[in-house]
Amino acid sequence: MSVRPTPAAVFSFSRVKTFAQCPLRYRYRYVDGLEEAFTSVEAALGTAVHAALEWLYAERGAGREPGPAEAVAAFDRAWEEATGPRVAVVRAGETVAVYAARGREMVARFAAGVFARDRSRTVALERRVSVRLAEDVVFTGIADRIGRTETGRLFVVDYKTAASGGAWPEHENGLQARLYAAALLAGHPQEDGVLAGFHYLASGETRWERVPRAAAPGVWARFLELAREALAATEFPARPGVLCAWCGFNHRCPAARVPEELSGGVTLARRRAGG
Ligand code: SF4
Repeated sequence: MSVRPTPAAVFSFSRVKTFAQCPLRYRYRYVDGLEEAFTSVEAALGTAVHAALEWLYAERGAGREPGPAEAVAAFDRAWEEATGPRVAVVRAGETVAVYAARGREMVARFAAGVFARDRSRTVALERRVSVRLAEDVVFTGIADRIGRTETGRLFVVDYKTAASGGAWPEHENGLQARLYAAALLAGHPQEDGVLAGFHYLASGETRWERVPRAAAPGVWARFLELAREALAATEFPARPGVLCAWCGFNHRCPAARVPEELSGGVTLARRRAGG
């Protein structure tokens, strides 16, 4: 099914990442405007966990202090919405229920630990940030939580439900956090730096990095370079690999490499396409 191509100038981190991982997937999604045939259960888990964490902080903002059981109930409501006929369990032998249990565990641990101890002040939740970098490129993204520490330092944190950063770790762990930090600095001219962090729900670990204002031009220059590389592309070669199993175009892609034990997505895609 055709949706609509993303406006040419608008680049998110995941757009440049997709181009780096597989130019053909990029073409299907961002140039041709095709919709992926399925959503992986891992992506649904991320959506529902993010919704539960957003709910937790919104509740605190409203003067309430929900505990782990209420956080799990919020996750269950979000999970209900995030899962449906488009959701595929890619890995053989796993089930939707296994992922739901993982999500509940992540959310309960977060509510009892990080959230219960957190004395920072929320500035914004799930806030869209956009910065025009040049005539031809706008950076856009959604910051999971922006806040101020007890000592008043501005921070942005991104929640990760995946165990690792995937096949593009340098950018996953470095550039992404700095991009959000640079975007935040663009809107706060009085700040000389921002804390950028990733919180990994599976391990409970948080990694922080201070991004000084002086670093922002370098961050934007690198992102502009990556975005323009994608904009200038005239050929979109397939780059098959382990991510093919999670690619929602794997039923139409002639180069797809999907092993039997990771065939849940392609099977659902073919069924939905009537093939
Ligand atoms: S199936 Fe693999 S090679 Fe084909 S578009 Fe998707 S990621 Fe690229």
